[in-house]
Amino acid sequence: MPAGSDVDRKALWVVKELGLPAIVKACASCRSTRHHPTGKFRVNASGKLLDVWMLIRCELCDRTSKIPVHERVHVQALDHERLLMFEGNHPAMVRRLAMDPAPAGKAAHRLDWSGTWELETDMPFYEPDDPAPLEVVVRFELPAPIRVEKLLTAGLDLSRSAVRDAVRSGRVHLPLAVDAKAREDFTFFVTPVCAPPA
Ligand SMILES: [Zn+2]
Repeated sequence: MPAGSDVDRKALWVVKELGLPAIVKACASCRSTRHHPTGKFRVNASGKLLDVWMLIRCELCDRTSKIPVHERVHVQALDHERLLMFEGNHPAMVRRLAMDPAPAGKAAHRLDWSGTWELETDMPFYEPDDPAPLEVVVRFELPAPIRVEKLLTAGLDLSRSAVRDAVRSGRVHLPLAVDAKAREDFTFFVTPVCAPPA
């Protein structure tokens, strides 16, 4: 694998954020399952115990429902700054929780990331005749889980089978499996080779 410092050609791909993922759960009023945060939290104190919910709204009928963030947590166990963010409906906290799969797992809803991102590539990056290796930095503006193969087919403008061939032959050197889902920044290398005549 070429060392980063030896690579002259570099490209930056950015997974640009188009929006937050939809929160998928059944709506009690209609048949839609897609929800979005209202931007508000609800904090309920019962003695020393706190419940915190994030409020969400059905995309179709506007019915508001809530998903648990903290349940029956002792007031002293909750970081004070964090509590203030809930009480102040802090947008950064809404954003963080709206994209966090952990509360989703607990609350038995899932996140739908379709339409939340687009890949912006810094062209040109792939000239088969250029023997110089290329380093590509993929930067995520949001932690959308995207199959590596999908990023490569889009970014390199290759078919799935061509991407798999390139990975198998070592022309594309990945830090993770081509089947894996990436959701944070990574770097990979492309080493173009002159293909022998078929
Ligand atoms: Zn609804």
